[in-house]
This record gives sequence, C-alpha cells and structure tokens, in this order.
Amino acid sequence: MNRRLAGQVFWPLTERLCQRDTVRRLAALNRTQHLPQEAIREIQERKLRRLLQIASEHCPYHGRRIRRAGIDPNDPRLALDVLRSLSLLTRDDVREHRDEMTWFGCPRGGPRLYNTGGSSGEPLKFYFDRFRQAADGAARWRSRQWWGVQPGDPEVLLWGAPIELAANDRLRRWRDALLNQYILNAFDMTDTTMDAYIGRIRAVRPVCLYGYAGSLALLSRHALTRGLAPGSLGSPRLRAVFVTGEVLVEPDREVIASAFGAPVVIEYGCRDGGLLALGCPAGRLHIPQENVILELLDEQGRPVTAGEIGEVVVTHLETYAMPLIRYRTGDLARVWADKGAPATGQRQLGSCAGLNPEPRTLNPHMGMGSQSRCECGVSLAALAEVRGRLTDQIVCRAGDQIRRMHALALIYVLREVDGIRQFRITQRSLDELDVDVVPTARFNDDSERAILLGLRRRVGDDVAIRLSRRDHIPPTPSGKHACVVSHID
Ligand SMILES: [Zn+2]
Repeated sequence: MNRRLAGQVFWPLTERLCQRDTVRRLAALNRTQHLPQEAIREIQERKLRRLLQIASEHCPYHGRRIRRAGIDPNDPRLALDVLRSLSLLTRDDVREHRDEMTWFGCPRGGPRLYNTGGSSGEPLKFYFDRFRQAADGAARWRSRQWWGVQPGDPEVLLWGAPIELAANDRLRRWRDALLNQYILNAFDMTDTTMDAYIGRIRAVRPVCLYGYAGSLALLSRHALTRGLAPGSLGSPRLRAVFVTGEVLVEPDREVIASAFGAPVVIEYGCRDGGLLALGCPAGRLHIPQENVILELLDEQGRPVTAGEIGEVVVTHLETYAMPLIRYRTGDLARVWADKGAPATGQRQLGSCAGLNPEPRTLNPHMGMGSQSRCECGVSLAALAEVRGRLTDQIVCRAGDQIRRMHALALIYVLREVDGIRQFRITQRSLDELDVDVVPTARFNDDSERAILLGLRRRVGDDVAIRLSRRDHIPPTPSGKHACVVSHID
C-alpha cells in the first residue's frame, strides 16, 4: 500500500470508524509536549477535575472514595495534590467492585470488557472506552514521530496471534494490509518459521518494528546464528525497533540492535493502566503527562525521592468508562534524575545530563523530582528505568524441530478463565508443565477443564500438565516477578 494513502487516508478513516479521535489528539499532543511544566500541570489539573466529577457522578465506588477523602470534585481550585488524600486502588478492589466503578452510560459506545493482568500472574477483567484507546494511540504516534516514523509507514509486528483463525482475524489482516502493517506470530517460532520471518522482514523493509522484547531477541539471535551479517535484518529506512510487554534486559537489547542495526526503544504500558512511558532519541522514557499522572510510591505509600525505585501508581486522565484513579500497577520504576544514570537498555543513546543549568521542578508532590528539558526538545517528565514483568519463552516439540512461543501464548489461556486470583506456570522440561492457581469462589471443575484444554492446544498432547490449587504463590527464589517460568535453556 502506498505510504501516503495508508497514513493520510486509511489510518484516519479506521480511527474514525472505531469512534476514536486519535488524529485530533495527536495534533494536540504535538503542541503540548513543548510547553513548560507549569502549563502541562494546568492541563493535568483541568483533566483531573473533570475525571473526579465524572467518577463521583457516575461510579458509586469512586463517589464514596472521593467523599471519604473530603474532596469536592466541583471545586475549581482542586490541584494535583488532592490525589494524595485518596486511597490507592488495587487489582482486588477492581475485581470486587468492578461494576460499581463503571459508568455504563459512557458515550461513544460505552464500556468494553477486557481481560488483562496476565503477565503479572493476576488476571483481571476491566472496562475500557474509546477515549482511552484514542489517547493512548495518540501518545504512541507522538513518540514514534520523535523517531521519524509516521502513520502509514511499513511496520512489522512480532506479536501473539491465536492458533485458530476466525473471520475476525481475516478482517484484521485486511485492515493491517491497508495500514501497511505485517504481523508475524510470536507464538510460533521454529527454525522454519523464523527463516520465513526473516525473509518477510527483508522483503517488507519496514520503517519500524514492534513486538515483545524476548521474541525479537530470539529472532535476532536466530538470524545471527544463521550467519547473517549484523545489521542485515534492517535497511537504510529502518528507524527503530519498539519493544513492549516486558522488561528489556541488556543482552536482548544488544542482540536486537546488532541484528537490525537500529536503536531499540522501550514502550512501557500495561493493558489495565494504559500507555505510561515512551523512549525518546535522547534516552529518556517520557511520560505522556497530558494523559496520565504517574506517582512513584514506596511501600508505605509515600512518594520516593528522585533517583529511587518506587511502585508505579497511575491516574489515567482520559478514561471515563472505568476511571482509574491512583491505581497500583505493581511495576517498579525509577524517575529520571539529571545527574543519575540513563535508562537501562538505552545507554548507547546518550545522557541528557548537564544541558540545562537550571533544572525545573516537576510535580514535586507526585514524586517526580526535578528534571531539565530533554535534549530531544520535549519538556515532558520522564522515567529512567522500568522494572516490570519478566516472562520466559516456552519451548515445545514441533515434529523434529523446537518451537518457541512467547509466554503470553499460555497466559492468554488462563486469563480467559473466570475465578483465578493468581497463577504461575512452570515448565520443568519439554514433557512437563506445572500450573499453580490461587482460585476465587467462582473457580470450579469447568474452569480447570478449560485451562487444561487451552494449554493442550498450545503445547501439544504429549506434555503432562499438572494443575494445583494453592492458597498463595510465593515469589520465585531469584525474586523474579514472573508468572511463567521455563527451566529449559
Ligand atoms: Zn527526550
């Protein structure tokens, strides 16, 4: 598809058909990203007041929270600090009070139910709306434009795709072709399929790639072991490889950068919390502050000082169907500090230290410390590092070959099943899979059968799957925050 036609006709058309005002939002974000922090803060406060008004009017659960905190949502003087008086929102709260925190009359098609939380090992059903999709989509495109990537540019996605192809997927393939997007299945990575993926990438010559860090690293290692020269997976028009879904570890970053000959850029977000930070060419992870307020809190719920690790707590300013106000993501992050170390995995891109002799103070009450305007020209606050989810690749037999699949292939099975509070899947060998489940009252024999059936479809009939119901799941000995662990090298 012609790039201009894809980007200027089909992309806006698709967004409009899906009732998303992404194009308008992208233009607005491109203007506000250069504003001084005081002006960005005013935008946040205006949006926060609107969110609190909607939440207290339409969602009884939030109405009680807001009243308990003594907040008058109609007070025009409400500032960001007001958030501090609200209690934190946990996954358990969402699980127990979901309908009470949902605005079912939300405009533009109302709330849509979604399964998430898989990669944390704590499945969760929640509602989202078109507003949030558009806001997150616009923030994603803004960050891609920092790298010179535009809507309609050819893109290859290494992504999870179900084994069973439904009519829906065919429709999606058509849409993807119109938008110049090409999907490769991250759940089916054998020597044969990876050779085909390499051929596809070299034929498409994408401007960017997008996918799970672990799967892109696997493909990169495969290409280099096949004897392909470093950089030969990329082309002169490749601008960046965007990785998401899990923590980017340094060896993975190195091998992806080597095989593709392009920078590896982190996109940090979660299905429930939204898109939270995006890598820029100067090595910071900028927070789309017009859409979200991030707080980094210690175990007592106090803001950490700049440079310290804290839990990411998000208030999404553009989600109305199920407002997320001070929602605990369970991820850990460190805020960018001018004199600190640059982001893990982005060290090659250079640090921004010392450019601005007078650092500005950014949201002091939100634990954001002080940051200078970034070398990339953007004044948005930034994270330096995210320590979130780590997932292993699952390994199975596929005839005389070995098939690797991203852990999400198995996670998707469990998060479709009702009645699971937490789970962990452990692959002990090619023939054994252990599944530990902390059930809720809704878990029954049908849930168990659904899990076993779904996992069999993924890993094959020859694997012995043991499912155990547990009271709790302790952390792994390595302290890894992982819900899928493979002991196969
Ligand atoms: Zn920057």
